[in-house]
Amino acid sequence: MTTLRFVLGDQLSRAVSALQDIDRARDIVLMAEVREEATYVRHHKQKLVLVLSAMRHFAASLRTEGTRVDYVRLDDNNNSGSFTGELGRALSRHPVDRVVVTEPGEWRVWEMMQKWGRDFGKPVEIREDDRFLCSRTEFAHWAAGRKSLRLEFFYRHMRRQTGWLMASDKPQGGQWNYDVENRKALPKHLKVAPRQRFAPDAMTGEVMALVGQRFADHFGDLEFFGWAVTRDDALEALRHFIADCLPQFGDYQDAMKTGEDWLFHAALSPYLNLGLLGAREVCEAALDAFRNGVLPLHAVEGFIRQILGWREYVRGIYWMQMPVYPKTNFLSANRALPAFYWTGETDMNCLRECIAATRRNAYAHHIQRLMLTGNFALLAGVAPAQVEDWYLSVYADAFDWAELPNTHGMALHADGGLLGSKPYAASGAYIDRMSDYCAGCAYDPKIKTGSKACPFNYLFGLWTNLTLSALKKAVIPDKPERISERLKPPFSGETGV
Ligand SMILES: Cc1cc2nc3c(=O)[nH]c(=O)nc-3n(C[C@H](O)[C@H](O)[C@H](O)COP(=O)(O)OP(=O)(O)OC[C@H]3O[C@@H](n4cnc5c(N)ncnc54)[C@H](O)[C@@H]3O)c2cc1C
Ligand code: SF4
Repeated sequence: MTTLRFVLGDQLSRAVSALQDIDRARDIVLMAEVREEATYVRHHKQKLVLVLSAMRHFAASLRTEGTRVDYVRLDDNNNSGSFTGELGRALSRHPVDRVVVTEPGEWRVWEMMQKWGRDFGKPVEIREDDRFLCSRTEFAHWAAGRKSLRLEFFYRHMRRQTGWLMASDKPQGGQWNYDVENRKALPKHLKVAPRQRFAPDAMTGEVMALVGQRFADHFGDLEFFGWAVTRDDALEALRHFIADCLPQFGDYQDAMKTGEDWLFHAALSPYLNLGLLGAREVCEAALDAFRNGVLPLHAVEGFIRQILGWREYVRGIYWMQMPVYPKTNFLSANRALPAFYWTGETDMNCLRECIAATRRNAYAHHIQRLMLTGNFALLAGVAPAQVEDWYLSVYADAFDWAELPNTHGMALHADGGLLGSKPYAASGAYIDRMSDYCAGCAYDPKIKTGSKACPFNYLFGLWTNLTLSALKKAVIPDKPERISERLKPPFSGETGV
C-alpha cells in the first residue's frame, strides 16, 4: 500500500503521528506552503519566515534520511493557494492508496480535513496529535461532570498522571504550587543574561526575501529575525534557557522592564508549537536540572506548571469548546481595536514598549500580553474577535488552539469565567509595581482623573462600576453563583500563571 503523508507547517517533528510507520521505499511526504494559510490573518512577517523556513529545513532533513518529499513552495507555478487544492494536485501526481494526516491545531483546518475523503474519493486517515501530554479524550474524561474546570485541578491531575515532582501521591516539597515565591518585582541592578539568537542561514535568507516582497503590508520587522528554524538550534535554545534563564524564571515571571524583551522567559513556545521541540523533552530537561540539584524546586515547579498545566489545559479547553467558544461575548464588548495596537503610536509608555517589542521580535512575554495589551482591551471593551485577530497575527507562537483560549478566556473573560476564575483587570498601580514603564510615561499611575491620569486607572474605575452594575444579576453559564460575587474588587492584579 502506498501512502501520501501530508505534514502541516506546525507538525515539524520526526515523531509526528502522520510519519510513524512510514515506508520509505513507497510513501511520499507532502508539504505545501499555501497563501490561504499565510493570509487568513495578516501574520507578523517573522512568524511567516519562521514557519516557512522551518518547513523547508524539515523537508531537507527528511530527504537526507532518504524520505521522498513532494514540497510545494509558495511561489511555485500552479500553486493553488490552499491545503485542499494542494492535496488534490498531489493526488493527481502520485497514484497512492490512501492519505494519512495528523489532526491540525485549528478547528477551521479540522473542518477542511473532514471533507477530503469525500472530495478525493480516497481513504483519509486523520491521526491523533500525540505530541501533547494530555490527549483530547483524556481531557474530556477529566472535565466530564466537573462543576469547575480550573487549571489548578487539571494541573494536579497531570502531576499525578506523569509522576513529575511527586513523592508517591503527594507533591514533592509538600506544596503543589510555589506561586507565592514567584511574583517578585525586578531588583534595579539584576543582570539579565543576553538572549541567544540564531543568525539566518541562506535558506532563511531566501524566505526572508520572499516574505519581504509578498507580505510587505503585514505587521512586524524582519530586521531582527533570530528564531531557530531547525531542531538542533531549538535544542540549543532549550539548553540556553535551562542553564541561563530558568534559575530566575519563577522569581521574576511577572516582572516587566524597558529594553528587556525576554527577561528570564523561555521563548520556546514557537518551537513547541511548531514541533521542533516536544513538551515532554522540555519538561524532562527542567526536571533533570532539579534532580541533579542544579535548580531549586520552586523554579522548576513554576516552569513545569506552564507546560504540563497551562499549555495542555488551554488546548483541552479549545477542543472541548469549539466551535462555539469564540461566539460568546460575556461582557458584551463591542468597541473597535484602537489603531495603536498596529502602529504603536500612543502616549501610554507601557503599551508603546510592549507593541514595539512585538513588532521587533514577534514576541512579548505572558505578563505583557495579559496585563498590558490584554488588560487594556478588556477595560476598553474591545470586541473579542478583533482582539483575537490581533493576537493571532502578531506572535510567532500564535496558533488558534493556544491563542483563542488565552485571549478569549483569560485576557477578555469573554467566556464568562469558564477558563479564568476572575477577570484579569488591573489599574496602573499594578503596572507601576511590576515594571519601570511609568517613569517614562506622559501619564501618572497615581492619578485617577484629569488629563494626567493614567488611562488604565480611568478605565479601571469606569469598568468596575459599569461592569458591576450591568452584570449584578447575571449568572455564569455553567454555574449558579452570581457574577457579582466574582467581580468583587480588588480584581486580579495576580496573573494566574
Ligand atoms: C492574550 C494572550 C494570548 C496568548 N497567545 C498565545 C499563543 O498564541 N500561543 C502560545 O503558545 N501561547 C500564548 N499565550 C500564552 C503565553 O503568553 C505564551 O505561551 C508565552 O508568553 C510564550 O513565551 P515563553 O516561551 O517565553 O513562555 P514562558 O513564560 O517562559 O512559559 C514557558 C512555556 O509554557 C507554555 N505556556 C505558558 N503559559 C501558557 C499559556 N497560558 N498557554 C499556553 N502555553 C503556555 C508555553 O509553551 C511557554 O513556552 C498567550 C497568552 C495571553 C495572555
Ligand atoms: S502611567 Fe499608566 S499608561 Fe503610563 S506606563 Fe504607567 S500604567 Fe502605563
